[in-house]
Amino acid sequence: MTQPTRGQRIDGVAVAATLRAEVAQRAAAYTAAQGHPPGLAVLLVGDDPASAVYVRNKVRACAEAGIASFLDRLPAQTTEAEVLARVAALNTDARVHGILVQMPLPRHIDPGRVIAAIDPRKDVDGYTVQAAGELMTGLPGLRSCTPAGCMRLIAHTGTALRGKHAVVVGRSHTVGKPMALLLLQADATVTICHSATPDLGAMTRQADVLVAAVGRADTIRGDMVKPGAVVIDVGINRGADGKLCGDVNYAEVAPVASWITPVPGGVGPMTIAMLLSNTLDAAER
Ligand code: NDP
Repeated sequence: MTQPTRGQRIDGVAVAATLRAEVAQRAAAYTAAQGHPPGLAVLLVGDDPASAVYVRNKVRACAEAGIASFLDRLPAQTTEAEVLARVAALNTDARVHGILVQMPLPRHIDPGRVIAAIDPRKDVDGYTVQAAGELMTGLPGLRSCTPAGCMRLIAHTGTALRGKHAVVVGRSHTVGKPMALLLLQADATVTICHSATPDLGAMTRQADVLVAAVGRADTIRGDMVKPGAVVIDVGINRGADGKLCGDVNYAEVAPVASWITPVPGGVGPMTIAMLLSNTLDAAER
């Protein structure tokens, strides 16, 4: 029997570029039919430098795809009531089909309350309770960008998920849980691990598809991966050398895995591409 090729790099930049080109075509068709472009509003509160970079990238990606973007920069001392009022205004703004509130918000603002204020039809991050409920019950709706992007990357490898064992490490509302539900919807058998999982390696070694969404470098080592597994690394961390890295030790895991996403250049670019795609979905509805 031939061994599967090991260590094939999943090129998130290339997969995202294909999706962005599709979105640009859809955006052009939408604009021609409606007489106005699809629109995404981005609300940035405070002056967190990383958030400013993320927002700039999203605004640039919108311009490249033919989506109008409306950037609302509010000072750090903006009150929760003022942020809620901005969201309410965006909910009724006909030029805006998607609303993204950049996280984290300043500490005096409750993110849950702000998310709950977003019109679910414009919730392109898929963070509202309505979006979570639609995902849980399998109804159509806007899916969280990062997990949806991971599903596209898995599809790109040609892996049929039906009957496979998928292990998700991390159970956040924004990544781990929706990821697990999408894998379940695709007929994988799903295990979710978290900080109270006693023997993480015993779980991850069973995975045909392993998704790491922890936020800690080197969480997944070479001896924790089943030979031939597909490994998706969501984590964004600073390594001891100061460089960007994921949750997976790439050098150790790549020779074991069949497919693996790098960090950077894996999941990250897909998250933005899915945001554009969700904005088009919201506009077309
Ligand atoms: P959270 O901090 O919200 O969740 C982390 C999860 O990891 C928690 O469920 C936690 O468990 C679990 N965890 C922590 N330590 C361990 C451990 N030792 N073993 C097993 N599980 C553990 O993070 P997010 O889900 O928001 O993000 C995860 C990572 O993904 C971060 O690095 C983030 O920056 C990155 N990210 C990347 C994106 C991209 O576009 N590439 C988008 C979004 C996030 P418990 O629940 O028990 O605390």
